[in-house]
Amino acid sequence: MKNFYGVSFSELSDYLLSLEENPAKTKIIFSAVYRDKISDFSEIINLKGSLIQKLSQDFSLSLPKMINRLSDDEAEKMLFAMDDDKIIEAAVMKQKYGNSLCISSQIGCNMNCAFCRSGKNKKERNLETSEMVGQIMFMERELNMKISTVTIMGIGEPFDNYDNVMKSIDIINCPYGFYLGQRHISLSTCGIVPKIHEFSKRENINSLAISLHAPNDEIRNLLMPINKTYPLKELINAVKDFCSTANKRVFMEYIMLSSINDSVENAAELADLLKDINCTVNLIPYNDTEIEGFSRSSMNQMMKFYDVLKKNHIRVTMRREFGSSIKAACGQLKSDYIKI
Ligand code: SAH
Repeated sequence: MKNFYGVSFSELSDYLLSLEENPAKTKIIFSAVYRDKISDFSEIINLKGSLIQKLSQDFSLSLPKMINRLSDDEAEKMLFAMDDDKIIEAAVMKQKYGNSLCISSQIGCNMNCAFCRSGKNKKERNLETSEMVGQIMFMERELNMKISTVTIMGIGEPFDNYDNVMKSIDIINCPYGFYLGQRHISLSTCGIVPKIHEFSKRENINSLAISLHAPNDEIRNLLMPINKTYPLKELINAVKDFCSTANKRVFMEYIMLSSINDSVENAAELADLLKDINCTVNLIPYNDTEIEGFSRSSMNQMMKFYDVLKKNHIRVTMRREFGSSIKAACGQLKSDYIKI
């Protein structure tokens, strides 16, 4: 039996055709699952019994199991157990414009960024599409929480699980699926260059976040091993490729690490690196982990850095911190639970 949340619209159409059913029924079934949030196919009223029976035999509507939930005023963190008992996390940021859900794409991560607590656990496996879509559906179906933005920025490197992540995006974006517009779906990568080129060719995409975190190869090599495989020059070229089509938006994520990448000289170098790219730099306060050698830059230093970028006509924002009291912030997911 297949999990329905991993089936794309076109796959369901093909399935119906294979049963000699009218593929127009795909819309009815997708709408029932994603809009009405049925938990049993028998709840679909406008389909004949034999088809409902067949759907129930072939697909399950089961979701990841929530095993823990922590909340504060502005964020929530959920722990989910998968069918094989592996654990993942998702975090909800409650923003003025709606709830933004940050989902994981892998169990563990192999990118081994020096500052990231989540990435200290080696990748055990990729998440299936149904497990990524399931994180969203759980919020909507079981917690009755409307999700208006999905960010694929939890644990894992989405471009190291490319096919499953792309299929998830298609379901999230589908008019009969969650129907979140492309501006409401974002994905963050540490910089797997060939996949950025591949991603650039997709039609329905208009935003991408790059975890840049350094203005030159020397610093980036220290922070992110991926940079040794795909150095900045190649990464910047890939980003230019992505931007070359109209309407594409790029966010450069830059964690501010005290005395490592936060000097005004670093800011000037960053401005120079990005001068030909239409992007927004997002300065992020480092969330404390117990990893030695990394601490957040002072507010004063962040402001100085910000000013240099502004003066050099780089679009820049400072990210608000969410959920640090419940360790729901970037780079902290799963860290405490797995020690138990
Ligand atoms: N692998 C992807 C997505 C997961 S990490 C990527 O690298 O982009 C999501 C973001 O959190 C990345 O920008 C990552 O560099 C950042 N991050 C990791 N640890 C952090 C920490 N302790 N404080 C702030 N951001 C952190």
